[in-house]
Amino acid sequence: MFVQRKTINANVSISGIGLHSGIYTTVELRPVPAGSGITFVRSDLGGLRIAALQASTTALDHATTVGKDDVSVGTVEHLLSSIMACGITDLDIHIDGPEIPIIDGSALPFMHLIDAAGVRVLDTEIPVLRVTQPIELVEGDRSIRITPSNRLIIKYKIDFDHPTIGRESLHFDFGHDSFLRKIAPARTFGFMRDVEKLRAAGLARGGSVENCIVLDDRGVLNGPLRFKDEFVRHKILDLVGDLALIGRPIVGEITAYRAGHAMHSRFVEKILRSATSTISRPETAVAAKALGTFA
Ligand SMILES: [Zn+2]
Repeated sequence: MFVQRKTINANVSISGIGLHSGIYTTVELRPVPAGSGITFVRSDLGGLRIAALQASTTALDHATTVGKDDVSVGTVEHLLSSIMACGITDLDIHIDGPEIPIIDGSALPFMHLIDAAGVRVLDTEIPVLRVTQPIELVEGDRSIRITPSNRLIIKYKIDFDHPTIGRESLHFDFGHDSFLRKIAPARTFGFMRDVEKLRAAGLARGGSVENCIVLDDRGVLNGPLRFKDEFVRHKILDLVGDLALIGRPIVGEITAYRAGHAMHSRFVEKILRSATSTISRPETAVAAKALGTFA
């Protein structure tokens, strides 16, 4: 199974504060030739390049960070989810600081940015990762599994001991338009009771009621919500961003229960480890070659 590689048509940029660092950065997306892949470029550090691949992940607490040596780019998942939803396979992401701006806490600004740049279809194909048997990760009562399918379908369930969140579940059939409408607008969320702890750990410094749904023990402090079940929608958004680190499109039916960034990441690692033995036979040789770049 193959799809056409894609980049964008023009340079586009967006600026804002980082959720955890509190540092203001500008991100510029630039088109690149087919086969380049997705790469973060630290323009403030001599153009140091960090591949947007699972092998580059360095931290997963509260957000996904990729890095090389001592240099990193944090909170990449909302931008990467948009890149994946737009089918972009080749792109340079220039950034002049350590963290992707949080903007409004959702992926909508990034979707609008990529749609404004326009998508350019390239003249080569990329193999799609398709599992041929289930892959599962179970940790206590949390789980995430993928079973074979020709489409990417995500069924996500959360269960928070909180009066506003509680149990939410959503069945999402992945595609640009469905992502734009149902998932991209869902914002990140955090609890007041965690804020002091996070700040003491150097996190959430840029967090505010402008870029995060803030909850206390009783409810939402800065409503209204964009969806009644905005929380599970944001979990799907994060999962799509974490799946983007596979480095090529993936299809399958994913069922996740009470997972999060760290678990998404361990699941992606498990998929990549299993990939050479469980992907569809006709593409094994090509995929094994592609996967060599992840080691
Ligand atoms: Zn998120």
